[in-house]
Amino acid sequence: MQKVDPPFAPGHRGPMNHSPPSKATAKQRSKARVAVIGAGMSGVLAAIEFKRAGYTNLVIYEKGASVGGTWRENTYPGICCDVPSHFYSYSFELNPEWSHRFSPGAEIRAYFEGIARRYEILPLIQFETEVQGCRFDHGRWHLALADGKTDTADFVIAATGVLHQPALPDLKGLDSFEGPAFHSARWDHNVAIEGRRLGVVGTGSSAVQIVSASVDSVQTLNLFQRTPQWITPIDNPAYQDEERAEFRKNPEAMQAIREEAAQAFTDGFANHLVDAESPVLAIIHDSCVANLESSVRDPILREKLRPDYQATCKRLVMSEGFYEAIQRPNANLITASIDQVEPEGIRTSDGELHPLDILVLATGFRVEDFVRPMQVSGRGGTLLDEVWRSGPKAYLSICVPDFPNFFMLQGPSSPVGNFSLIEVAELQVQYILELIQSLETEGPQAISVSQDAATRYESDRQKAARKTVWASGCNSWYIGKDGLPIAWPFTFDRFREEMEGPRLQDFETQSIHSAHLIEE
Ligand code: NAP
Repeated sequence: MQKVDPPFAPGHRGPMNHSPPSKATAKQRSKARVAVIGAGMSGVLAAIEFKRAGYTNLVIYEKGASVGGTWRENTYPGICCDVPSHFYSYSFELNPEWSHRFSPGAEIRAYFEGIARRYEILPLIQFETEVQGCRFDHGRWHLALADGKTDTADFVIAATGVLHQPALPDLKGLDSFEGPAFHSARWDHNVAIEGRRLGVVGTGSSAVQIVSASVDSVQTLNLFQRTPQWITPIDNPAYQDEERAEFRKNPEAMQAIREEAAQAFTDGFANHLVDAESPVLAIIHDSCVANLESSVRDPILREKLRPDYQATCKRLVMSEGFYEAIQRPNANLITASIDQVEPEGIRTSDGELHPLDILVLATGFRVEDFVRPMQVSGRGGTLLDEVWRSGPKAYLSICVPDFPNFFMLQGPSSPVGNFSLIEVAELQVQYILELIQSLETEGPQAISVSQDAATRYESDRQKAARKTVWASGCNSWYIGKDGLPIAWPFTFDRFREEMEGPRLQDFETQSIHSAHLIEE
């Protein structure tokens, strides 16, 4: 894995700052122990912003050996972010060195590592330290670590990710396969794919990137499709040296690209997902149909690749090269369902055995596992597992009643999917900071959302979720246990408005008699 320190834009604008001045004294803030769980994009961001706000008694627990979260775990061939790089960057650290409009995963990971180093976050991280439990007792959170150690924190920020726990398919005979078999997020780089017979299960964003990047290296590529996906075309030109030089000299040029992308994304896409009948979604649908029609020459293959649901119902797949890749002579699209895995390959329901050397399971993630397997026990011993028995839910995606001073980034009902999760996380971190800072007045307090406010939010969320395009008749990881989409069901503009500042009447506070925080 390439490790580089990205040079940063000279004269960058500095971290976001829309929090009001803290009511907590500087001493209270520096004493309050903040534990961030996860050193991915959101956890590193939380550490930067909390530190900047004066919360210097910070620790980040990270179960892996390095930062980067999803960009550390997903290293499959062709991985890149299909959100434009100048948009998928921290607002306070635009990066003139991005190689492409949509840069590859290794570069993104190096960007986060460089930032964690530059902001002196690395020394705060305890790597290879999984948090197994968090228990709220006497006003503080007690963390149980996998190595048997413990810690106590005043605030916990769970930045544990969404698309995190690989979902392995329940395929008969999977263990009998004789060759290497691995999930797309656990790519085995000891296995050379060149000249081999590669099988890929799944047709989501991961599989599409893998297929496009591998087809020319392998002997044969068999793609096992259960459901076709709508594909929207993208161009991914490399930035030229002169363009990068211009970005270095003139950071406003990056800012302009960013703002243009943000606006196009919000007005031309995100705000419309809330309404399956939206004319804008109809235009997106038509452009996906046109892409299929104009790109796939063989009418039989074209029909196999044609979904029977509305584009954007599943997360929209963006690809420069998938349709070309699947039309290569060594590529096969297999639509018969998988009957079983055998030592030599996959047998489909039509009786055919598809011989394979390597099997890649691009079968997605267990999104419902939010925060888990960590055991979280709140006020009065309330278990998060119990509260979330019918699926994870959180007020504004950030907090849960009876779990005071415990906040989530990218939590349940957060905008997710075709979004710049960096923008989402930046807004959420500022919201949490504002909440904490506005309530620390006379002394340390436990802050939790009221049951009433959480119930009201959940009822609005459910009502809105039913109208979204994700509920328009397809199966996807957006759909939760209750059959409703799990993602933010309102407009993105509303998300930005909600994150402008907490409605304090929705929260309850309780004084904590915590000697260590009371100023002598
Ligand atoms: P995914 O979108 O959940 O796709 C999983 C695929 O596996 C689906 O095609 C699914 O079929 C198939 N599948 C699952 N179980 C199966 C089984 N038992 N038999 C046959 N097929 C099975 O997963 P993903 O591609 O890893 O993507 C997940 C998310 O990660 C994306 O939606 C996106 O948000 C994010 N991502 C982003 C990027 C990016 O560039 N920003 C890149 C990759 C991933 P069905 O459709 O029939 O369920």
